[in-house]
Amino acid sequence: MEKKYQKIDFAKYSSVKIGGVIEIEILDENSEFNGFVVGGANNLLISPNPPKLGILSNKFDFITLDGDILKIGAKTKSGKIYNFAKRQNLANFEFLKNIPGTLGGLITMNAGLMGFEISQNLLSVRTNKGEYGKDELNFAYRHSEINGIILEAKFKVSRGFDAPLSEAIAQKRANQPKGASFGSCFKNPNGDSAGRLIEAVGLKGFRVGGCGFSEIHANFLINYGDATYFEAITLINLAKMRVKAEFGVDLHEEVVIL
Ligand SMILES: Cc1cc2nc3c(=O)[nH]c(=O)nc-3n(C[C@H](O)[C@H](O)[C@H](O)COP(=O)(O)OP(=O)(O)OC[C@H]3O[C@@H](n4cnc5c(N)ncnc54)[C@H](O)[C@@H]3O)c2cc1C
Repeated sequence: MEKKYQKIDFAKYSSVKIGGVIEIEILDENSEFNGFVVGGANNLLISPNPPKLGILSNKFDFITLDGDILKIGAKTKSGKIYNFAKRQNLANFEFLKNIPGTLGGLITMNAGLMGFEISQNLLSVRTNKGEYGKDELNFAYRHSEINGIILEAKFKVSRGFDAPLSEAIAQKRANQPKGASFGSCFKNPNGDSAGRLIEAVGLKGFRVGGCGFSEIHANFLINYGDATYFEAITLINLAKMRVKAEFGVDLHEEVVIL
């Protein structure tokens, strides 16, 4: 089958607004692909020489509800899933209003906040290699082990959209740093917070060129205008080095660096 490609300008497409124009393969269930799949690029830092990249075709942007089973295409955005759940009075998707991404990225990252995670009501994930039950995918904090290109997933639904919960989550998020970022830069180490550690080593608000750790929340790396990949990597490595030297703690990136 003939391959199709799409040009993406990651300085515009990615949430952190870093990266160049790259031609990437458009994927579907028949694709023989051994690169990285790009979702909404809300958790990506793209280097000037990334590995082979692909993106799902638009046919994977869909939601269907059949009895108690919700089937969602992996290209569907979190905002669309949230709005669907609200309209159909479905529970457990309230937290998606505040996490940008597509379903494929949300599942890969096991995205979540305030005790909610996308894997909670998940039943199965279909990839180009087959269909896998939730128990086969080793979900943990911001972690999953999934083989292949995620095409769609099924969820068991419960009725009752919780509007006050949605409002409470949004309120808690209101003081999140503004500006171009990929959300949290590092995962929280067991029993501690990456933001606290970065602040403790003096890097809260610290900048290199157009890039810096936010003055509001030290675990947010912000592009203040014309940040480059190298500035972002310098800051990431500096934080890891200082936190290791002062506290003996290894920080692990939450952002996926390609
Ligand atoms: C302002 C802001 C706030 C955020 N807050 C949160 C938060 O509260 N909680 C949280 O968990 N995250 C948060 N994030 C991070 C981000 O929203 C999540 O990680 C989200 O899941 C990324 O989805 P995406 O579609 O953009 O994935 P991408 O960033 O494009 O990709 C992320 C990973 O998923 C893989 N991937 C994507 N699609 C597929 C697919 N179809 N098949 C196989 N692999 C795939 C990619 O290869 C990559 O490894 C935040 C980000 C921003 C910018």
